[in-house]
Amino acid sequence: MTYDFDLICIGGGSGGIACAKRSASYGKKALVIEKSRLGGTCVNVGCVPNKVMWSAAHIAHTVKHDMKHYGFSTESEVKLDFPKLKQARDNYVKRLNGIYASGFEKAGVECVFGEATFVDKHTVKVVSQEDGTKKETNYTAEKIVIATGGRPHFPPGEGIEENCISSDGFFELEDLPKVAVVVGAGYIAVELAGVLNSLGAETHLVVRKGKALREFDPMISDGLDKEMVKAGIMIHRHTNGVAKVTADDQKKKTVTLHSGDVIYGADVVLMAAGRVPNTEDLCTECEWAPNTETLHLESCGVKVTPRKYIVVDEYQNTNVDNIYALGDVCGVVELTPMAIAAGRRLADRIFSNQSERKVDYANIPSVVFTHPPIGSVGLTERQARRLGEELKIYETSFTPMRYALNQHGSTTAMKLICAGQQERIVGIHLIGEGVDEMLQGFAVALKMGASKADLDNTIAIHPVSAEELVTLKEARIVAAESELKLAS
Ligand code: FAD
Ligand code: NDP
Repeated sequence: MTYDFDLICIGGGSGGIACAKRSASYGKKALVIEKSRLGGTCVNVGCVPNKVMWSAAHIAHTVKHDMKHYGFSTESEVKLDFPKLKQARDNYVKRLNGIYASGFEKAGVECVFGEATFVDKHTVKVVSQEDGTKKETNYTAEKIVIATGGRPHFPPGEGIEENCISSDGFFELEDLPKVAVVVGAGYIAVELAGVLNSLGAETHLVVRKGKALREFDPMISDGLDKEMVKAGIMIHRHTNGVAKVTADDQKKKTVTLHSGDVIYGADVVLMAAGRVPNTEDLCTECEWAPNTETLHLESCGVKVTPRKYIVVDEYQNTNVDNIYALGDVCGVVELTPMAIAAGRRLADRIFSNQSERKVDYANIPSVVFTHPPIGSVGLTERQARRLGEELKIYETSFTPMRYALNQHGSTTAMKLICAGQQERIVGIHLIGEGVDEMLQGFAVALKMGASKADLDNTIAIHPVSAEELVTLKEARIVAAESELKLAS
């Protein structure tokens, strides 16, 4: 049997691009099919525009809170031109779209634009528009990778889909809303609430339970909560979510919460209550509304979970022998470097005889771009307790030198979790100015099995916040789990 391509990647986002380019580097004929813009979520409506907005918010924060303490005059008002910021950000993203396209040319990867659906396990149909006419073309490949990512999820509720925007909609805003309501408790909710608030919008954050980022170590979630309140974000707690959103003639929204509380006069209601995979439509069992994106997985027999994520093993194999899946569509760890690593390693395995090449899902570092930022790798204290070893927990909290002249600046907090006699580092949790750039190196150390003694043996850099992490002294001892059980 001969095929048009050795490999087809459905989805030109972080994972699909990485896999196709690595496959081409082994001399394989690779095709990427993308229905929208090259770069996927990360480049167009995720990490990249989000980081630009975070940087803008960071500057706003400096102007508003720190400038005067350092002797700068605040007599003339520093004003934000939001449309100008948006235009510059969009231009930057467009430039990246072009860089991906030329990267394909250099690497010898072919790319077609259109929506892909499976015809059979080796054939994909691409529907595209050319000069206003619908065009359908079939492509065949020996191997097919599904890297279609995910999309925002609107929970059920009266008027929610009609009157709310998602993170995608946030990046389309032409002006800064005066009043914004952000609903959700994960990465996106806290990041975008932070941006809106720092840029000057009256910002409400609606969480279902007591606080945001509940899955993080409590030092992080409590620390962020305190900082958000201090920065002026109004947090609506124990709401059980949003029941209804209505809009009046002036497009002002009224948000009714399940708790009975009501928020009036919102210009924007941003729903950030999680994401769902781009797999198929006619989702009759799940709670979110179906849409028209469809891969027709029934044509190739690929299995999905009840929540429509693609089922893969640790090597990105689906249940169909020539079809693989990676990135957000699998719903395991939804981060760009994870999708890229999975894509490259899959190509190494299937086209370069590296039969054991796969990604390791343990100890993945991540940063939340809040104000101040959060960095976290390894186990939370609660997870570490399940190791059954004695733990030594080192903690510190201090005002970083960035705020030497502004005592109202945010606090930095750090937690180092060490396990066993050797004090093996199993978790690092940081919140504070600069931790976003600090975490990567410490994550390498943790991944290599570093112990507290290794940090003690490293000469600190002075005066930076990271110095505190390598010179921690006071520890709290948590007895091994079995002893805890005996004691109780
Ligand atoms: P995607 O990048 O989503 O790519 C999938 C592509 O497939 C899309 O371009 C889509 O158009 C295309 N597609 C879908 N269906 C079809 C079809 N049928 N036919 C053809 N094409 C199709 N991660 C980080 O690591 N750091 C961050 O700071 C960060 N910030 C984020 C901020 C936001 C607001 C969001 C939403 C996400 C963020 N992420 C971040 C997560 C990151 O963007 C994703 O983990 C990453 O993009 C996943 O890559 P992927 O290749 O799996 O999917
Ligand atoms: P998350 O899964 O991080 O968080 C969604 C949260 O919303 C849930 O944990 C839940 O918290 C809350 N929620 C769920 N349903 C509702 C509801 N009906 N009403 C109100 N709140 C609800 O999803 P995100 O969409 O924020 O982000 C998706 C992924 O994208 C992240 O997990 C991350 O992997 C990635 N990402 C990474 C970033 C980074 O690296 N900096 C930035 C942005 C995204 P609770 O149970 O407490 O209510």
